[in-house]
Amino acid sequence: MTIMLNIDPRNPDKAKIAKAADIIRRGGIVVFPTETVYGIGANALNPKACRKIYAIKGRAADNPLIVHVSSMDMADAVAKIPDKYKKILKRIWPCPLTIVAKARDSVPKVVTGGLNTVSVRMPQNRVALRLIEESGVPIAAPSANISKRPSSTRASHAKKYFDGAVDAIIDAGSSRFGIESTIIDTDNFMLLRPGAFTSAQIEKEFGKKPRITEESLGLKYAQRPKSPGTKYAHYSPLTPLFLFDGDAKSLKRITSVFKGKFVFIGSSESCMELRKNAKKAISLGKKRGMREIAHNLFHSLILLDSLNADFAIIEGFPEHGMGLAIMNRLRKASGNRSFESEKELRILVGGHG
Ligand code: AMP
Ligand code: MG
Repeated sequence: MTIMLNIDPRNPDKAKIAKAADIIRRGGIVVFPTETVYGIGANALNPKACRKIYAIKGRAADNPLIVHVSSMDMADAVAKIPDKYKKILKRIWPCPLTIVAKARDSVPKVVTGGLNTVSVRMPQNRVALRLIEESGVPIAAPSANISKRPSSTRASHAKKYFDGAVDAIIDAGSSRFGIESTIIDTDNFMLLRPGAFTSAQIEKEFGKKPRITEESLGLKYAQRPKSPGTKYAHYSPLTPLFLFDGDAKSLKRITSVFKGKFVFIGSSESCMELRKNAKKAISLGKKRGMREIAHNLFHSLILLDSLNADFAIIEGFPEHGMGLAIMNRLRKASGNRSFESEKELRILVGGHG
């Protein structure tokens, strides 16, 4: 049975946190909020508990879990973080930045997917921090979604995925960022995954730019990537999703032959344009409000699957700031199926008629 724990993020109820922490200590599974997305968590030092996460999510065994900590000491106990980075992390954590470093022997191989490195993060969410503190152990937690599906940004999403399969779900409202953490490899300062912590913030705090590859942009699936998760399809709704990569002004004309057949997801400005052609238009927010667009993205992809559309079109966004992470998710959610013209859209729809 899954118990639901409603917790006010401004004033976390001690008894409810204690209950969830007790489940973690006993080797159980708790879905909990973070500022990025909801996580499905277990005691990171208990291999049997961590194995359950893979089984519940249907996650590939070589796709490692992020270890969530509530203090620098806890991070030190799981990872050998180089001193120069530790100094910076002491200053900027908690924040949506995950670092990959050499793992200590205490970290079970199931957590690292067999690698000798481990990824660590201190979440900027009071409920998450209290839960880790009260548990007294680091918590391994990937995003709370069935593998390949969109991540949960609300407890209701996680309930749809995991009701009956996990021991508890904490509901503390919607995730502030709505997009996963940024992952940096401390070994070569490569951006393994763009996320809620922007490249400009990294440059400001670390004094250097991260190395960005086609893999980190989601343009390519590598066979033997540095970050195993990047080789898998991800974030996809069940409804076929196509990414529009062209000028938003031409979209109304391009889609006119598919009137009433598709759901449109995009900026409020483009929703106004597309309203008449689409079966439904889901607004992510104003074009310039990239944080709000990120915040609403996964909710919209989950909502899409309840609308019974033949297919959906999602609008692309400029690839700077939060846009880098947004476009990485859109490329993956659409399986890199993008179009710029009516002809290209016809071909994509033809494959899904
Ligand atoms: P999720 O928690 O579902 O957002 O997925 C965690 C992501 O972190 C996956 O893409 C993993 O490949 C990546 N990751 C976790 N640990 C490591 C590691 N030791 N080295 C490289 N990537 C990692
Ligand atoms: Mg995930």
